[in-house]
Amino acid sequence: MIINQILNKTKQYLDKNDQAVIEKAYHFADKVHKNEKRGTGEPYIEHPLQVASYLADNELDMPTIAAALLHDTEESDPQIVNSIKKEFGQEIYELVEGVTKLGKIKIKKNWFLPFKLLQNHQQRQNGFQRHVESLRKMLLAMSKDIRVILIKFADRLHNMQTLKGLRPDKRLRIAEETLEIYAPIAHRLGMGRLKGELENLSFPYVYPKEYKETLRLAGQSYDNKEKVAEKAKNQIIKILNVNNTKYNYIDGRKKHLYSLWRKLQRYDNNINKIYDMVALRIVVESIEDCYKVLGIIHKTWRPLIGRIKDYIAVPKPNGYQSLHTTVFGPDGVIIEIQIRTIQMHYGAEYGIAAHWHYSQNKSSQKQSVKYLSNEKLDWLNDLANWQEKQTDKNELLKGLNLDFFKDRIFVFTPQGDIHDLPAGASPIDFAFAIHTEVGNKCQGCKINGKIAKLNQSLKNGDIVDIFTDQKSRGPKRDWLRFVVTSRARSKIKNYLDKNPFR
Ligand code: MN
Repeated sequence: MIINQILNKTKQYLDKNDQAVIEKAYHFADKVHKNEKRGTGEPYIEHPLQVASYLADNELDMPTIAAALLHDTEESDPQIVNSIKKEFGQEIYELVEGVTKLGKIKIKKNWFLPFKLLQNHQQRQNGFQRHVESLRKMLLAMSKDIRVILIKFADRLHNMQTLKGLRPDKRLRIAEETLEIYAPIAHRLGMGRLKGELENLSFPYVYPKEYKETLRLAGQSYDNKEKVAEKAKNQIIKILNVNNTKYNYIDGRKKHLYSLWRKLQRYDNNINKIYDMVALRIVVESIEDCYKVLGIIHKTWRPLIGRIKDYIAVPKPNGYQSLHTTVFGPDGVIIEIQIRTIQMHYGAEYGIAAHWHYSQNKSSQKQSVKYLSNEKLDWLNDLANWQEKQTDKNELLKGLNLDFFKDRIFVFTPQGDIHDLPAGASPIDFAFAIHTEVGNKCQGCKINGKIAKLNQSLKNGDIVDIFTDQKSRGPKRDWLRFVVTSRARSKIKNYLDKNPFR
């Protein structure tokens, strides 16, 4: 039973009361999902259980795990929210609500269709950059509590692992979203391992041909490079021992297939130009040891000019730290070597999650956590502090260092499609953003389920339902007084010009 595994795991760091709430959440969700099945045919409850289990593996707190178990109950029964609030309290309720809200953020239906015609990946990227970037920002802006994103990530990971059970068109949409929205956010939050998993799971669905080609291209190269890495590893161990230098461990890491493909595009598809297909990773105790090991490596193997990168002194924007160098290794084969401390290593693999985990334990006086020292990760610190200090959405985004368009709002259709509009936009602007015909035949609207006026200003996160009337006589001149998008304005004028007696 997965629930027993979860309870066994959480027993190691949560008290009895917390465990009881998790168990209660399980029984609650189990009841709601009783007769439901997933696309894969298994009982629905398997899904929230797997999501919760992943979060328990990462030692996240009780409200996060309870909310993970409850995260899809609202979809089965919209009335359930009140019971969740009553039974589990405000904190868990807000986490569940946050996840439900994020679930409404979807890439526009069929957005990929016209772009399938563009063979060139770069063209395609440029074309949707804006839409996708809006979605990413939206996702971050809407989750005031970083734990909401962590639940959503776990949810997405399990959905990707079980994607086979879905219809092909749904598969493609979910894989696209994962690749374009979730993986980049995981990257921005420093969660390297999760980013890699999400990308690798999406790759074969989104780019099946390229996936197969990369697999074929990489196959032999991987094997060869792995042999070189193994040889280099044994030599380094010997040299470090001779020099009396301690290390935690040395390992070869394979570049994952999706990032290999992306890199190949920048290197004329020439696999021989990719030096970090298999990189050797040396994890040591202290920063001094990092530089010491770098010196020893350079004394042994000649480094390539211009390939030494000091991300310890100058971390990457997402907080990543390491020393990178590329050398002429054993038998003159070129190989990349990465040197980092254990804290940097956990920081690079788990990012915000590792940090969050750390600060949680700190507050509960369990100082035994082995990773993430605070000193070098101010960036992540700021991030984790938001939820305590800053509830203001703009402050939150400043902390993330995003160039969020303050003057833009995000509005949903009831189906969850998102449109990004200028502040002050009206339902008419929204209608024309959906489709010219929807604008032309617009008769009325509901905002968040309530009948509203067509000249009302929309707010960020509003769900707008536009009513159309096929017998409509077209846009009203009056609308020009309050629309703010040039699209709506020109469409209305256009119509009025063609129908002057309106
Ligand atoms: Mn789910």
